[in-house]
Amino acid sequence: MVPSESPKFPLIYRDFVKMFPDESSCVTYLVEQLRWSDGFVCPACQRRQEPWRQTRGRLVCPACHHQTTVTAGTIFDKTRTLLTHWFDAAWHMTTTKNGVSAKPLERTMGISDRVAWTMLHRFRVAMVRSARELLSGEVEVDETMIGGVETGGKRGRGATKEIIAIAVEIKRPKGFGRIRMRHIPDASAKNLGAFVRETITSGSVLYTDDWKGYYGLSNEYEHHQTILSSSDDPAHVAMPGVHQVASLLKRWLLGTHQGALASEHFQSYLEEFTFRFNRRTSHRRGQLFYRLLEQAVVTPPVTESDIYGRLVEWEYEHKTVCHSHGEYARDEDGDGFYEVHVNTMEGFWSLLCSWLRPHRGVSQERWPLYVGFFQFVHNVRRRGKALLRALVPCLFLKLGQRSRFTPIFSMSNEFYTPIF
Ligand SMILES: [Zn+2]
Repeated sequence: MVPSESPKFPLIYRDFVKMFPDESSCVTYLVEQLRWSDGFVCPACQRRQEPWRQTRGRLVCPACHHQTTVTAGTIFDKTRTLLTHWFDAAWHMTTTKNGVSAKPLERTMGISDRVAWTMLHRFRVAMVRSARELLSGEVEVDETMIGGVETGGKRGRGATKEIIAIAVEIKRPKGFGRIRMRHIPDASAKNLGAFVRETITSGSVLYTDDWKGYYGLSNEYEHHQTILSSSDDPAHVAMPGVHQVASLLKRWLLGTHQGALASEHFQSYLEEFTFRFNRRTSHRRGQLFYRLLEQAVVTPPVTESDIYGRLVEWEYEHKTVCHSHGEYARDEDGDGFYEVHVNTMEGFWSLLCSWLRPHRGVSQERWPLYVGFFQFVHNVRRRGKALLRALVPCLFLKLGQRSRFTPIFSMSNEFYTPIF
C-alpha cells in the first residue's frame, strides 16, 4: 500500500460507481484512504508492513500473524451488510440535498427496512461523535417546538412536544455561520444553560429572548436579551437566524422523514441536519461523503455499552464486571474481540439455548412466547411448590371464565400442559 498524498473521493455519481464496484474496492478504500492512509500498522506488534489480505476484509500481519478486520472498532464492526450497501447509503445520505430516509433506500437497494434504518442510524451516530469546535462570535439562541398540535399559551413552552434548543452564529452584514442543536426535555435554566455553555465559547456575544431559562449567563457571555413581551417585533424579527434554521429543520423532518420520528432518536436526526447544514457551502458533495466515512471509521461500534452507559442517567445503580481472558468472556467468532458474558448470564444463555433447541424452526413472532414461557418456568421453579399450589386454581378459573380473569401469562392453552 502506498501512502496517499491527498484524500481521494468521488466527485460525481459516475465516479462513485466506478470507484466502488464491489466489496474488495470498498475494503481497499477503507484500508488505504481512511484507516491506514500512512501504511498499515499491525495493532498487535506495531510493525509497519503490507498486510496479507483475506476474505471479508480480514488483514493478517505477516510478522506476527495477528488478524484484524478493516471494520473492527468502527461503526461497520461485525456488520453482515455488504460494504457496498454501506457506501451507497453514505453516498445518498451526503450528496442529496435533503439526505435520504430508510424507505427509498430500501426500495432502491433491495434491502430490508431494518437494514436500511440501521445503516442510516449508525451513520447518524458517527455524525454525533464528530470532533466539534465551539461556536463563537455573535450567536443567537432560542428554542423551538416540534411535533404535536400547535397550541397557544406560553409561546409553546409546554411539555407535550419535543423541544429543540438551537444556536446559530450570526455573520455581519448578513448570513449565518455554523449551528448546534440539542433535544432537551424542558426549557429550564439547567438544560438551556448547559446547552449554551457546552456549545458556545465563553466571551461570545449571546442573543436570547427574556425567558428566565437564559438568566445567569451574563458572567460568561456578553448577553443581550430582547424583551419580546414589550416589543412589537414578533420572534422571527428578533431572532432571524434561529427562526430560519428552525423552519428549515421542520420542513426537512416533515419532507424527508414525514415527521415519523421516535423521541429517543430525535437527537441523531438533529445531528444529521447539523452535519449537512454546517457543510452547506461545500460545492464538492463527494467531500461530504468522504468526511462521513472518515468519522465512521473513528466512531466506535454502537454496542450494548451505549445502553449500559445510560443506566446511571436512568437512576439505576450500575456496577461493571471486569473480564480477564478466558475467564468469563469468550471470543465467539474468532475476530479477536471477547464478547462479554458474565457467568450467570452465560448459564442462562446456555439453558435457554438447550431449552429452545427442540423448537427450532418456530416463526420469529412467536419467540417472545417461548422466551416468556422459559422465564415463567424458571421463576416458578425458584419460588417452589407454594406458588404452584396457588396458581393451579387460578389457571382453572382462568380457562373457565376467560372474560373475568387477567391472564397469568398470555400464551395459548397448549403451553399449559408441560408445567403440570
Ligand atoms: Zn503484527
